Parts: sequence; structure tokens; C-alpha cells
Amino acid sequence: IQILICQGTGGISAGAKKVEAEFKKVLEEKGVSAVVGKRCDVVKTGCRGLCANDVLVDIVDPELGRTTYDFVTPEEVALIVDEHIVKRTPLEKRKAKPYYNTFVDSQMRVVMSGCGQIDPEKLEAYLAEDGFKAIEKCVKTMKPADVIEEVKKSGLRGRGGGGFPTGMKWSFCAGSPGTQKYLICNADEGDPGAFMDRSILEGDPYCVVEGMMIAAYAIGCTKGYVYVRAEYPLAIDRLQKALDVCRETGYLGKNIQGWGFDFDLIIKKGAGAFVCGEETALMASIEGERGMPRPRPPFPAVKGLWAKPTNINNVETFANVRHIINKGAEWYASLGTDTTKGTKIFAVTGKVKHTGLVEVPAGMTVRDVIYSVCGGIANNRKFKAVQAGGPSGGCIPAEVLDTPVDYDSLIKAGAMMGSGGLVVMDETTCMVDVARFFLTFTRMESCGKCVPCRIGLKAMLDILERITGGRGQASDIETLLEIGATIKKASLCGLGQTAPNPILSTIKYFRHEYEAHIQDKR
Ligand code: SF4
Repeated sequence: IQILICQGTGGISAGAKKVEAEFKKVLEEKGVSAVVGKRCDVVKTGCRGLCANDVLVDIVDPELGRTTYDFVTPEEVALIVDEHIVKRTPLEKRKAKPYYNTFVDSQMRVVMSGCGQIDPEKLEAYLAEDGFKAIEKCVKTMKPADVIEEVKKSGLRGRGGGGFPTGMKWSFCAGSPGTQKYLICNADEGDPGAFMDRSILEGDPYCVVEGMMIAAYAIGCTKGYVYVRAEYPLAIDRLQKALDVCRETGYLGKNIQGWGFDFDLIIKKGAGAFVCGEETALMASIEGERGMPRPRPPFPAVKGLWAKPTNINNVETFANVRHIINKGAEWYASLGTDTTKGTKIFAVTGKVKHTGLVEVPAGMTVRDVIYSVCGGIANNRKFKAVQAGGPSGGCIPAEVLDTPVDYDSLIKAGAMMGSGGLVVMDETTCMVDVARFFLTFTRMESCGKCVPCRIGLKAMLDILERITGGRGQASDIETLLEIGATIKKASLCGLGQTAPNPILSTIKYFRHEYEAHIQDKR
């Protein structure tokens, strides 16, 4: 019998460590394993997605199946053990509500298949889930070019926001001349409300390591970095433990497992600047310079970290790779839409009934993510809009709620996939305030290197503050559109090129709210 206790950051902050300690104590005191004649193991796992209902405990029993209890406290542990494990009668009243099953069943967990299922700190647990089988298959049966071809055929696109085809990106770096090449995993995850990458690193760090090993083999890199923001202490701790174990057991270092392949990885902690998610700024930060973007070309694949060819992908992208190799490119390409293959993880926050982390096949509609998976709008209010793609994304109104979640459809609707943040707003939300909130964030995070972003965002924010402060002028909306278009066109990096999106999309769909502020002077 396994007792799985969710111990991502959400679970721990809800008291999961105390619940775990109590289970261990009660099981031992009552000699439960001997009483029921079965081994009872308490296992800490990563995130299952429904963080709002932590502490989540699953009891997996070969005879009774899997039962989930939510909001578990240390005080009720003895009762759960007595009734469920010893007397074999699950506590019907304490089981997670039916919506928990809907939340779980309406998803498709591929990337997060290990999160919430295995102990992220145990290599044996990862190996039991076919861990490191994909890299072994690559090294033993495939040439590096075959691996790149397989990833190309799968249709995997970068999950960090850009959506660039991953296999093609790898081929650029593989084709660059040079004996020293670098691989970087971008775990900077700066979007407010986004925690996909953190949860993967906390819940299944070995799958990211294996994805990087496969990329390193395909490209010809011997050294890699994982750039993680320092605000993610648990993710850093679990990843560091995974790296240490990999080194001790020969899964990292020289001549890995005797396969004649060398690769090692180190963690570089970032100081939390949003702009360091931009790849050239990120590399500057690893080099010890101030994290500021630089013009491209030269692209990192030609001249990247320490001026050597470098390939950068984000956590979720690397976490997809082992599944592609294990199950094949055709299988992966059969999931999703024509232009976006596989699954996508979304952090759904705001005014929905069940906030959390969901993984769905690309192409599911935004409506289904919000209503079918996350239960709809909280407090029976009406849906107004959803901000997709983080602070640089756009707002999708009710009219386009049936937009499929794929790169191209979201851009057509005026938003973007970004890294996967979905902030849901109801009828009580003022869209001008929302635009001002996101612009305040991006203006603060602008590195100031180029004029359109540095000065333009400040000018837009001044106008928005004037409008929401009841001092708006008739010409303000047109001025916002004009400055926004210029910033998008003339800024050096993605931050500036996308920062006006929340304003432009809210003007497009909710212009009347801007006009009401200006006319009513409120
Ligand atoms: Fe810096 Fe903004 Fe220019 Fe990017 S667009 S380089 S964040 S000032």
C-alpha cells in the first residue's frame, strides 16, 4: 500500500510535511504493516495540480484502488489509517469531491506523468518509470542526426513562449562549427502566476535531466546549465539532489554508463529579473554580466554562451523529449493540432472555481480548459476575459472563448501561448485596470537598454494612470495605440516587442471601458 503525499511548494506550505510525519508515526505505532499483512509506504511526491486543495493524499491499494483525500490535516491521519488502511473502508465523506476526478480525468498528463506519482528524490522511482531508457536508446541505437530527425518529425515546438520548432533549433547548433558547445535549460519562469516549470523540477527533476542528456547527445554538447530563479528553493534543492545522484551513479560525467558519451550539468541561480528569461540576457547573466539582451544575429546557435555555439530550451520542452524517444515521433505528432503537437501545461489562476496546473492536449478550446477542467467561473459570476501568455500576452473575451489552445490560434485571437499562464477574469474586473497592472510589471522589468521600451512603456503607463485616475483625454486611446505599435516594432527584445499586448488587446475588445473611464472621469 502506498500513501502518496503531495509535496510540491503548494503542498508543503499547506502543511504536507506534518501530515507525512503523522502518517509515519501512526503507521509505526500501530504496527499497521503487520496488522494488514502488507507493506505500507509513505511516499512524498510532486504536484498534482490542484494546489488549492492541498494537502492532497492518495492511498493506492492493490485491492481498493486509488483513493484521494484533500485538505488533509495531521489530526485526521489516525482516523484515515484506522478506517481506510486497517478496516479497509475508505472514508466516503472525506474523499476529495467529485470535481477532483473531473479535474484529473479531463487532462492528459504526459510531461507531468511523474509529478504526483513518484518520489522526485529517488532515482529508483524514476528508473522504475522507464527512466533513462530514452537516452540509452539514443546512444545505443541512434546517431545524433537520427535523434534530431525524430524530434523534428514529432513537431515539438519550444514551450517557453516562442514556439520555435525544437528539432530545427537543435540542428542549427549541431551544424555550427566548434568543438565546445553548450546546452542551457531556461527555468527562469518569470510570468506572474506561472508555475509549470517549477512544478516539473520539483516533481520530476530526472525527466528534465534526461531531456537535456538527449539534446546534448544530439547536438554534441558536453556541458550544460540549468538557469533557475533563486526564488525556487525547493526546485533547486531537488534538482541539485538529482544531479548529485546522477554523478554518483554514472548518469552524468565522463563516459556515462560506459556508453562513451560525456555530459555534465550545473545549476546557475538567477536573481529573478524577468528579462533574464530572454535567451541573450540569460547567457549574459550566466557569464556574470548584467542580464541585458543583445541584438541578434549572431544567434546563440552560432555565438552563444562564452561565444560558443549554444542551444537553449525551457524546462517543459526538455521534459517532453524522453516521451518522444520512448513512444516515437508518430505517437507524439498524433496529439494536438496541425501546427501544435503534443500537450501543453497551463497555470490557471484568477476567478475560476479550481485554480491549478493542468496539462491538456494542444487544441483543446480555452472554454474547455476553463469550464470542463477547472469548473467554470467562481461564485457563479459571468466570464469576462482570460489573459493568455503572461504579462506580455493578450486578453481573450467571451466571443473567442472557443479558440483552441495552440500557438497560431491564440496569436490570431490577439493573445499568445507564452509559457502557459491563463489568468481568468469575471464580470467584476475592470479591463483598464488589468492592462495597467500588467504594464506596471513589464515597465518595471524593462532593462532600459533601448529607447522604445524604456521611454515608451513609461509613456503608456502615464496615460493609463491618467485614464484610471479620472483625468483621461479624448485623444488618449489613439495615442496608446500609436505608441504601442511603435514599441512593438522598434524594441530590441521580446519583452518590449510584446509588452503593449495587454493594452492593445483590451482596447480592441473592451474599448468601451476605456471610453467610459474618459467620459465619466472615473
Ligand atoms: Fe531592454 Fe526593453 Fe529593450 Fe528588451 S526591449 S532590451 S527589455 S529595454
